Amino acid sequence: MVATWQRTDTGYTGVEPTEEWAREVRRLLDERDAVLLAHNYQLPEIQDIADHTGDSLALSRIAAKSTASTIVFCGVHFMAETAKILSPEKTVLIPDERAGCSLADSITAEQLRAWKAEHPGAVVVSYVNTTADVKAETDICCTSSNAVEVVRSIPEEQEVLFCPDQFLGAHVKRETGRENLHVWAGECHVHAGINGPELAERAEQNPQADLFIHPECGCATSALYLAGEGTVPAERVKILSTGGMLDAARRTGASSVLVATEVGMLHQLRRAAPEVDFQPVNDRASCRYMKMITPAALLRCLREGADEVDVDPEIAKRARDSVERMIAIGNPGSGE
Ligand code: SF4
Repeated sequence: MVATWQRTDTGYTGVEPTEEWAREVRRLLDERDAVLLAHNYQLPEIQDIADHTGDSLALSRIAAKSTASTIVFCGVHFMAETAKILSPEKTVLIPDERAGCSLADSITAEQLRAWKAEHPGAVVVSYVNTTADVKAETDICCTSSNAVEVVRSIPEEQEVLFCPDQFLGAHVKRETGRENLHVWAGECHVHAGINGPELAERAEQNPQADLFIHPECGCATSALYLAGEGTVPAERVKILSTGGMLDAARRTGASSVLVATEVGMLHQLRRAAPEVDFQPVNDRASCRYMKMITPAALLRCLREGADEVDVDPEIAKRARDSVERMIAIGNPGSGE
């Protein structure tokens, strides 16, 4: 019998990811008619036992298509909410509902309503890393793959409010050259911590390496600057979502790649292209919320059917509309 868990302030502990644990997880998944989804930033043992791994939006779309009646979402809370928004008839469980997100928390629905009141007629574009309440106040959602395309679909003369990520917003502003795009000053503490000087130093030490940069990173601007200055050849700098990184990993001709995003991503990249040496730009870039989904938390979730994620049906409908408007524009690509 697998040992039982303890609840602590930083998560559930006390269970090792043994073969016995894996068998028990699979047995309980069958018993609950559940599909197990894991985000790319999850612990390797959680990624390895999942039915599907991927970015937040891809996983939510897999959840909606799945015939399973229960979705167990190993990721942070807004991701499980997005799965519930797209699959309102299914039971959605998250192994620890305390797994939040500093980026999603950087804007509330109330703050967004006040911002909209200051810019009547503006179109609100929100990154998928937002709560259901914020999505319900949004006109069009976007991912890091399609943010530029979504903003380009809005008539030139209309103001745009872009939230919550300032680095992704700066990237969109640079690409579209749009002056009437206002950017909310939110950030993810993990990505913001991957900074320009660190990137420049690592790039200098590894002159042959490709650079895979997530646009939420504090270093995204520096990467473009380094390319512009010729410090790093422009073709070696790739600004990519997590899903885009996996595609690029399979195609890269480089023998080594420096990766600027949460370190959990390295597990998928190394699996996708074992012959390439993937190294983190900052090996401390670990999201403590993502890492709250421990083997103990997953076991508890499956044994107890908790924590269940629910979204008010009216909020869910309005939030779903903003996601569907994005999908109608095309190329939803991937989220975080
Ligand atoms: S890495 Fe940042 S954006 Fe992603 S879940 Fe953690 S806090 Fe949120």
